[in-house]
Amino acid sequence: MQIDENENSWDALYFIGVKTMKIYCFPWCKGKSKPNNTLPFQTRHEAEQAGYRACKKCHSGLPYGSWEDHEEVLKIKAPKEFSFKENLRYLSRSTNECLFTIIDNKIYRAIPIDHETPLVEISSENDTILTVRFFGNSTPKQKWVRAGVARYIREWFDFDTDLIPFYELAKTDLLLSQPVSNFYGLRNVGIPDLFEALAWGILGQQINLTYAYTLKRRFVERFGKHVEWDGTKYWIFPSPKDIAMLSVDDLTDLKMTIKKCEYLIGIAQLLTNEELTKEKLMNAGDYKKAEKMLVNIRGIGPWTANYVLMRCLRFPSAFPIDDVGLHNSIKLILKADKKPSKEEILKLSSTWTNWESYATFYLWRMLY
Ligand SMILES: [Zn+2]
Repeated sequence: MQIDENENSWDALYFIGVKTMKIYCFPWCKGKSKPNNTLPFQTRHEAEQAGYRACKKCHSGLPYGSWEDHEEVLKIKAPKEFSFKENLRYLSRSTNECLFTIIDNKIYRAIPIDHETPLVEISSENDTILTVRFFGNSTPKQKWVRAGVARYIREWFDFDTDLIPFYELAKTDLLLSQPVSNFYGLRNVGIPDLFEALAWGILGQQINLTYAYTLKRRFVERFGKHVEWDGTKYWIFPSPKDIAMLSVDDLTDLKMTIKKCEYLIGIAQLLTNEELTKEKLMNAGDYKKAEKMLVNIRGIGPWTANYVLMRCLRFPSAFPIDDVGLHNSIKLILKADKKPSKEEILKLSSTWTNWESYATFYLWRMLY
């Protein structure tokens, strides 16, 4: 995509922060205020790290040319390195997924934006555009809420990452060439909500994936909210507030360990009082510092920390090096008799700098 300052272009060259309101705008926003009350930002990311929010008038939270708003239908531009089918295959890995369903190559789910929970059907005919149709009389009346939905979906599919350098690197890589050719167009389908990502990491500790999905379903159906339409319930993940005030007793009949119950409640409390936020982790300075912030929290070890940094915060160098799936995948590709040692993995991954996260995601994909 070409970038220029034209209003029809992909994105703006800079953004204007409005100090009093802590919002950032496109340069062409009509709502901008007096120059002495503004400051420039080079990128959207920089503005958001400084604690500025997207403007509700000019929808600066999304690259200008990245979406079209037709009210009941949104069109979201996909990057060239995208295969809807590959991402659907990944999302179909469990029949017990409780936060979305896939029917006839279309994804159905509720997306919480502020106090609204619109229901969306996501489809794509040719991989270049995602079509997002609101259903169940849930079309958001305000454009900024629809922009929030578009943003959530772009983030879910990681549309802002340019995969070309990764694919270049993978072509000649002993471990990555096969997964990248098998699953071309797969994105690191993420978990944009921090509590959901942390909770999923904790629920999955020391159990198999099938049981982790069962625990997630019990947790969501017990404590989450839902929107019902046409006999189907569309669930949204419980908010930290809903969990922070619970006691271990409230969670025990979900049949997970007491420790996991304590971890979940503890983390929900940290998020509720904003001791832990996405912004704080993004602002930690670098990946290692963010990892340290997380492992200092009870219940979060290096694996969970890296999992969350990879799937939610999208630190490109997040690397759950102790992951059993990663080890099995490497063993499979190398047709080895035993799993690789940590030293061997470090050697094999030495050229992956800043792509460790994507490399892991693609290697996991080899296992199912
Ligand atoms: Zn604005």
